[in-house]
Amino acid sequence: MPDTHLPLHRVATATERLFPTLTAAQMARISTHGRRRKIAAGEILVDVGDKAVPFFVVVSGAIQILRPSGATATLIVTHRPGEFLGEGNMIAGRRALIRALVSEPGEVLELDRQQLLALVQTDAELSEIVMRAFILRRVELIAHGFGDVVVIGSTHCAGTLRVKEFLTRNGHPFAYIDLDQDAAAQELLDRFNVTAADVPVLICRGDAVLRNPSNQQIADCLEFNEAIDQTHVRDLVIVGAGPAGLAAAVYGASEGLDVLVIESNAPGGQAGSSSKIENYLGFPTGISGQELTARAYAQAQKFGAQIMIARGATALACDQQAYAVRIDEGMPVPARAVIIATGAEYRKPPLENLSQFEGAGVYYAATPMEAQLCVGEEVVVIGGGNSAGQAAVFLAQTVTRVHMLIRADGLADTMSRYLIRRIEDNPAIVLHTRTELVTLEGNGHLERVRWRDNSNSSIEARDVRHVFIMAGAVPNTHWLERCVALDDKGFIKTGPDLSPEDLAAAAWPLARPPYLLETSRPGIFAVGDVRGGNIKRVASAVGEGSIAIAFVHQVRHQ
Ligand SMILES: Cc1cc2nc3c(=O)[nH]c(=O)nc-3n(C[C@H](O)[C@H](O)[C@H](O)COP(=O)(O)OP(=O)(O)OC[C@H]3O[C@@H](n4cnc5c(N)ncnc54)[C@H](O)[C@@H]3O)c2cc1C
Repeated sequence: MPDTHLPLHRVATATERLFPTLTAAQMARISTHGRRRKIAAGEILVDVGDKAVPFFVVVSGAIQILRPSGATATLIVTHRPGEFLGEGNMIAGRRALIRALVSEPGEVLELDRQQLLALVQTDAELSEIVMRAFILRRVELIAHGFGDVVVIGSTHCAGTLRVKEFLTRNGHPFAYIDLDQDAAAQELLDRFNVTAADVPVLICRGDAVLRNPSNQQIADCLEFNEAIDQTHVRDLVIVGAGPAGLAAAVYGASEGLDVLVIESNAPGGQAGSSSKIENYLGFPTGISGQELTARAYAQAQKFGAQIMIARGATALACDQQAYAVRIDEGMPVPARAVIIATGAEYRKPPLENLSQFEGAGVYYAATPMEAQLCVGEEVVVIGGGNSAGQAAVFLAQTVTRVHMLIRADGLADTMSRYLIRRIEDNPAIVLHTRTELVTLEGNGHLERVRWRDNSNSSIEARDVRHVFIMAGAVPNTHWLERCVALDDKGFIKTGPDLSPEDLAAAAWPLARPPYLLETSRPGIFAVGDVRGGNIKRVASAVGEGSIAIAFVHQVRHQ
């Protein structure tokens, strides 16, 4: 691939990919989308917290990118002619995290956000250069904790992991102070009368102090959803931003539909909680679920899809002509077509004090964030599917022992062969067949577990502080309130799986039968793990999300 002005035979270095220099021809193409203007030394083009940040390309002069802190500022980089400013927040329309100061006078090309989106949607070469640099720059900001958020928490407090995970999954950089390791932080909190019950504390954009905030409060403080208009009728509302919903958003928005995605937590879905996906086409060495879905999130936004974060769909009004999705306590969003991509979540074992330890020893994901908490300890993984296998293999790299508990006699019926082989070959993983967890014990944090071997009813107690639950799948369909036909396990029935009785019960109004992914209501589709009969894989979720868009077009033209 020709990279900016590099000779064809030379691969760009990491720095060149982060801070590419554009050719004269590329700059000429950008200039047709925006305006050219002079800049004066000392002028602040962008400051921390600014909204609606324009995209600047340096024509002449120099611009410093600074990270202000009190009266001083750290220089991150100086942009010179041919280089452009900005990072991922420009595509998402979020506030600036840095200051851009003109250090030498000259000229810039300036594009507003809409002009930038038009550029990346229409110019494939520049899209690749700009999007790649934006994503890499955001990764650098995250790696250095150069954000506008400070989280003060403790590994003993369940909310801390949730808050860190929410920010990470949303690609939002933050600095973290651990109360268990930083005595000064505790003194500071004491002075503000913050008690242990208030932890985690989040200092948002330098001023607001949020005590054990919900994900919704964090999203509100960081204005993740500010630019979203909930009142106009959308061509398509997608519920759920896992792989299926994100794929539908990419295809829908790139094909000109006005798309809104509603996500109750953070983008990525179950795939976002996977340490490494090795069987998704095109990634022979594997890719973390977080990285795969972060790319999809950026891609959907690049094509103009809007993604509402930390807002759950609570009901679907499906009796009227234009459908409407009700969101938490907010206004219903009207839609001509709806794609349900709400996926599934792990079944919770019936342990009476389970909720007490969720996030404090009991986890439903195995990413580097959870792995960090149990380095050098013994852990339990519950489940015999691929996700449990993947978690066991991943955790075995850093823990002393992984106890895999499964109810069945073996893994052959539920897990891919490549994972079974890795488990068998790994001396750190001990498989306990016909076994289930029976008790959790601890004070604040999980300290001890007991499991029962069902073949002889013997109980074993173990000082284990970390349990990963990855078994069974419950579809997220409770919010639909029977609006669409469900199968006996609660998954959504679509296309040929709908019986004449299902269609009669829903008063199916058309002469044609439902399309392949269409539910018992015309124009309402179901894709991915939430759909009955779906194969629970990233690739099938992505495939279904993309092909559903073809049916949305057909319904629109009827
Ligand atoms: C740990 C783990 C590892 C895995 N590894 C692999 C692998 O290696 N290879 C593979 O192919 N598959 C793997 N899978 C399976 C794969 O991740 C899923 O099949 C895939 O994520 C399904 O995508 P989806 O979009 O249909 O649903 P999900 O990923 O479940 O996404 C659904 C989204 O909808 C949101 N949502 C739910 N209810 C609402 C609501 N009411 N309003 C708004 N939003 C809502 C959820 O928060 C979620 O973000 C793994 C799964 C897990 C958990």
